[in-house]
Amino acid sequence: MTSINDRVKQLVRAEIRGLKAYHVPDAGSLIKLDAMENPWSWPDSLLDAWLEVLRSVELNRYPDASAKDLQAVMRTAMSVPDAAGVILGNGSDELIQMIIQTVATAGRSVLAPEPTFVMYRQTAMVAGMDFVSAPLLADFSLDTESMLAAIKNQQPAVIFLAYPNNPTGNLFDAEAIQAILAAADGLVVVDEAYAPFTDASFMSQLPHHDNLLVLRTVSKMGLAGLRLGLLAGAPAWLEQIDKTRLPYNVGTLNQVTGHFAMQHKPVFDEQAGKIRDARAELFAGLQGIPSLAVYPSEANFILFRVSPGRADAIHQGLQQAGVLIKNLNGSSAALQDCLRVTVGMPEENRAFLAALEQQL
Ligand code: PMP
Repeated sequence: MTSINDRVKQLVRAEIRGLKAYHVPDAGSLIKLDAMENPWSWPDSLLDAWLEVLRSVELNRYPDASAKDLQAVMRTAMSVPDAAGVILGNGSDELIQMIIQTVATAGRSVLAPEPTFVMYRQTAMVAGMDFVSAPLLADFSLDTESMLAAIKNQQPAVIFLAYPNNPTGNLFDAEAIQAILAAADGLVVVDEAYAPFTDASFMSQLPHHDNLLVLRTVSKMGLAGLRLGLLAGAPAWLEQIDKTRLPYNVGTLNQVTGHFAMQHKPVFDEQAGKIRDARAELFAGLQGIPSLAVYPSEANFILFRVSPGRADAIHQGLQQAGVLIKNLNGSSAALQDCLRVTVGMPEENRAFLAALEQQL
């Protein structure tokens, strides 16, 4: 009889066996500055009003399959142009998967600059596509020439551009993105997961480019636990992408809660404003430490580089001091000695800075 390991090897494609599952560490009681969450919870008045709304939910019924009420408020909250269509997803991760599945054909590729959000590569590999990356320049700006060369040589079916980029935090040059949109025959997805923390956006550009898709999420604005994302783009594309969506992918609790939250968006906008202010303070604090190289950020996290060979020990030391951040050292050559801290509440950021200085 063949062993289970042999059968796994026979049945599971080599590319999937070669991947690592997306790892989420348990934060326990640590100050959690590793996952780009909004640290502020809801005011009590909002919590009470939300619980009241939940009373009317009929969990014995399937959700509204097209989530039309939620779609309508999300369109307004995210300034989707009238001419664009939208699809909602169980987080923007699911929408990334749906986009890729729609065009997945062996031999076709997905292109992204790297380092970037790891799920573009992972999802492309799982779908059996090739993943092509064009390295960012040393300051993490887009290498426009290498992107345009990759577009010419590979003819990628989809290009992902995180705007601002994760884990580097910067915004790519808007003109470089325009050049990519003009050069690409395939889809160009501008992933605006960190939209609450920047004024830049390609959403208003949708009517001008029929290969542009814009991706948003409510995760970073304060609803990471909800799992809700939005994809906007030309209806001709979305009509096809919608066929890869599983029925009822956005549950009733998500629909009702998302609708409620969008109606109270000023609460989340105010929190995003506080995060932007705290980001400036945290950035200044990091910049004040001479041994660090700190990268400018338009997102709710900051990437910094420590002295050569020290990242793992500093990351570990911070955990022992009660603070969890993200260690990117070892994930790629470009991120050697790099750590990423999410902007928390001012007192959390100060505790982090104090703990960091102890480690240096
Ligand atoms: N896009 C980018 C650039 C991200 O950094 C993330 C989360 N880290 C996502 C998409 C996925 O977000 P979610 O699935 O929570 O909407």
